[in-house]
Amino acid sequence: MGRWATKEQGVEYRRRYYLANGEKMRAQAREYRKLHPVVVTPEQRRKLHALRKQRAGGLTESRIFRRLVHAFLRQRDGDMCWLCGLTICDDPRIVSVDHVLPLSQGGRADDPRNIRLTHLKCNMSRPKKSREV
Ligand SMILES: [Zn+2]
Repeated sequence: MGRWATKEQGVEYRRRYYLANGEKMRAQAREYRKLHPVVVTPEQRRKLHALRKQRAGGLTESRIFRRLVHAFLRQRDGDMCWLCGLTICDDPRIVSVDHVLPLSQGGRADDPRNIRLTHLKCNMSRPKKSREV
């Protein structure tokens, strides 16, 4: 166990100590960083880069969800854009899900009757006024 009867006591002590000696501690930290600069080796840099790349390439939960929604709408309505009537190819970058009744007007994103597939371009260029169906 630690030096303190409760965790809160330790936190309180450190808080008071910091209030009393904050400037001294910050000066020490500055001094420490001057003496021990952070050196990132090329090896570490490579590892970090690889890790970031790996994360970006993996599917996030929202991406998986979006794909499921797209697949559902495709199956229900076919590969068709509801705004221009042309085919939509299976490219997540150009597909968008349109809300029949906009969310801003109380439309629900989780109601299948309120969502349909559109081209991202068509959805973006659609005037707000004509959104009601
Ligand atoms: Zn379209």
